[in-house]
Amino acid sequence: LLSGLLPDTYPRYSFEHARMNSATLDPLGSFYRQQLDQGFRFLRFADDLENNFRASHKVSGLKQLRIMLVLGFFFGLSFAIFDYFLNGLGFSSSSVPLQLAVNQPMLLLMLLATMSATGQRLLTPLGITVGLVIGGSSYLFETKAQLHSIGAAVTGTLVSIIYIYFFLGLRFWPAVVTAVTVMIGFFIAEFVAAAPGAAIFFNGMFISFTTLIGAVGSYNLEHSRREAFLEAGALADLASRDQLTGIPNRKAFDDHLAMLWAQCKRDRASLVVALIDIDFFKAYNDIYGHQAGDGCLTQVGLEIANVGRRPLDFAARYGGEEFAVILPGCTVEPGEALIERLRERVQALNIAHKGSKVARSITISAGVVSVFPHATDRSAQGTVQMADESLYMAKRAGRNRVCVTEPEHVAAGQTGVFRVGDILEIA
Ligand code: GH3
Ligand code: MG
Ligand code: MG
Repeated sequence: LLSGLLPDTYPRYSFEHARMNSATLDPLGSFYRQQLDQGFRFLRFADDLENNFRASHKVSGLKQLRIMLVLGFFFGLSFAIFDYFLNGLGFSSSSVPLQLAVNQPMLLLMLLATMSATGQRLLTPLGITVGLVIGGSSYLFETKAQLHSIGAAVTGTLVSIIYIYFFLGLRFWPAVVTAVTVMIGFFIAEFVAAAPGAAIFFNGMFISFTTLIGAVGSYNLEHSRREAFLEAGALADLASRDQLTGIPNRKAFDDHLAMLWAQCKRDRASLVVALIDIDFFKAYNDIYGHQAGDGCLTQVGLEIANVGRRPLDFAARYGGEEFAVILPGCTVEPGEALIERLRERVQALNIAHKGSKVARSITISAGVVSVFPHATDRSAQGTVQMADESLYMAKRAGRNRVCVTEPEHVAAGQTGVFRVGDILEIA
């Protein structure tokens, strides 16, 4: 009902954005920043972000929710015991059976739900139910308390409303609907009990104002949480994205390589690493200027970012005019073929380059290596060095080509140390 009332004006992700981001980092990437700029007055993000926020919000609040449910349980239990013994009503008081048969089991049920994945999916409807039950039963206790001249008339309902807003793990919208329902229920109960008009007005003011205070507090709390969520996402994205091309940077490459290496090792799968370098790029900068060089890097970078078709394929700007690609689960022939097609596509971009000695347009050289992480004594970084060796071979062999190194042909001792001197000095 509520999501229907909210504006549906958030832009859907364009195909281009989705493609670019899937080849890169967090699939949501820069959408964190976009949503921050756009704002979220109605406490709702664009669909994918919203789902991520809800999942992370639920997990981060679980521990506190459990503590609050346990506290709520003992608080309610102590009331039932107080009623049973001190008021001398025993089970003839309707509040004691209600507490023991409904309120306390509901709290336990919700506590149990926090323990399992299935239960966690039901926490919002359960929270609403618990809130309504506790709020609703508070009218009954109050009527009884007034009969015995103990306690203030509306204390229980006030506490229930605060509990609904802050202790049941509910987001703002479900909490406000629950609290307002309890408030309306209070007025109905007062009318049905034919309470004096002055009492309804006086108590109603307390309840309404508490409902409002809770709503403002709950709104601000969730707004801050959402803002922190977006800022953390935007920062993580900024830290791992190259600012010029928008594709992942060296840090992201190192992180992904370590992760994919471990994953392939566990799956006993192979892994392809490719290093790619633009040919005669210094000459390009010298002839066309640094800004044109930047534009060229961006164009080539985007082509490289889209090289992989599988979800875990990864491409990054490794440094300067060098790029790196990781293809987990890929073997040497398809890996080489993929990078060869990439080389053709870059040439097909047809970026004029008068200074190139191998073509009339911008071209790339690439070094490809394929390993089985579980069956090699090489490190991930040693594998990158092997790809670097292959790239060096491609440069030496005349550029604008892809070279492959078979791991068996490289002694283990050769890896782990990066070449001293600049491969680009070789003519
Ligand atoms: P080779 O074919 O051997 O790779 O020759 P090269 O000229 O491409 O290699 P070299 O290492 O001599 O030159 C790399 C150039 O890349 C030098 C540097 O100015 C340029 N470069 C690195 N980062 C950037 C950048 O962010 N923007 C621009 N415009 N140029 C960059
Ligand atoms: Mg170069
Ligand atoms: Mg280079």
